[in-house]
Amino acid sequence: MIVKPGQWLGVLGAGQLGRMFCQAAQSMGYRVLVLDPDEVSPTADLADDHIMAAYDDEKALGEMAKRCLAVTTEFENVPARSLELLSRRTHVMPGARAVGPAQDRCLEKRFIESMGVPVAPFAEIRELSDLEHLPEGLFPGILKVAQLGYDGKGQWRVANRQEVLSAFEQAQRVPCVLEAKLDLAYELSVVLARDTQGKQVVYPVSRNIHHDGILAVTHVDGVLTDTARAACQAAGQIADGLGYHGVLCVEFFVLKDGSLIANEMAPRPHNSGHYTQNACVSSQFEQQVRVMAGLPLGDTRLLAPAVMLNLLGDVWLRHQSDQPQEPDWDAVLSKPGTSLHLYGKRCARAGRKMGHINITAPTFEQAVGVANEIVDLLD
Ligand code: ADP
Ligand code: MG
Repeated sequence: MIVKPGQWLGVLGAGQLGRMFCQAAQSMGYRVLVLDPDEVSPTADLADDHIMAAYDDEKALGEMAKRCLAVTTEFENVPARSLELLSRRTHVMPGARAVGPAQDRCLEKRFIESMGVPVAPFAEIRELSDLEHLPEGLFPGILKVAQLGYDGKGQWRVANRQEVLSAFEQAQRVPCVLEAKLDLAYELSVVLARDTQGKQVVYPVSRNIHHDGILAVTHVDGVLTDTARAACQAAGQIADGLGYHGVLCVEFFVLKDGSLIANEMAPRPHNSGHYTQNACVSSQFEQQVRVMAGLPLGDTRLLAPAVMLNLLGDVWLRHQSDQPQEPDWDAVLSKPGTSLHLYGKRCARAGRKMGHINITAPTFEQAVGVANEIVDLLD
């Protein structure tokens, strides 16, 4: 199947990922239809058309399937039934089978383990009685809701059984996983694309720094270490195992002893792959368009070392006045190698992802130097 420029591609969800997908699709001549319940959103601002409806609205899904030759999703928590309904009449990438395991941390961990890739020691907690025989090795641990958690939300650090009990109560006894809190050396992620023929390309591995459970900084030096190579191989196995079509991200922990643990996966372009917009030949969003359109996969080559800085709403709120204030973009953009990406969100709130800055430079050290100057400017 080849979708021709001028024809329609669909996206479920209208946040920043949908917006950047839309930009990439439009720059290749496609028209984009977004389905999302909100009247105003980062994607609806730009899309060629917007069906304002709930994600499980069958009539709306039917219209989308009729108009779009291929449909994707910008978030993993889209109802599986909606993907299934769409797939009866159009191509859905990734499909319900591939998205399912990413919607539930228990399924996800079991699936990743079944691919021969290690995950953190964990226990599934569905009811109070599951708390009775927890292995000592899971403490100190992190209790995470199995579904719908993101950006560190729905997580509690727990030192002992008593604390798990109260965290489970706070989670209102929804299904959870208790994970051992690991001693991390650093975190990395692999972003890859897999086409409908099963061919894969992988981007240079990024190192990720999180603040309060939210991605803050991505570093890409382009050096393929043994650990990075092993992570790419593991992510590739996971993509093959899922029969995956589209862009997939797998997050990993690297422990102090050098061992590699898969943390979670995202069945879509990922925040840690935003650097590809300015530092690689084809961005992760363009790659998603290529797979959907049945075009050859793009070149993932790194053109320059890169740093990505996430811009949270806090940056707009760091001053005396009670109204959010636009940061000094003039000062930021006067730094060499910087590109500003803002998501058009109307209102800045603490912890809300408002945009990001990509920095490229001739050397990785220079990119880090510029990134540090920008962090100081925005502080
Ligand atoms: P989210 O879906 O919110 O991204 P994650 O499971 O990726 O949830 O957790 C967010 C961050 O919390 C991770 O990137 C890591 O920094 C930290 N973290 C999560 N699980 C563990 C763990 N088992 N041990 C140590 N740190 C962890
Ligand atoms: Mg994560």
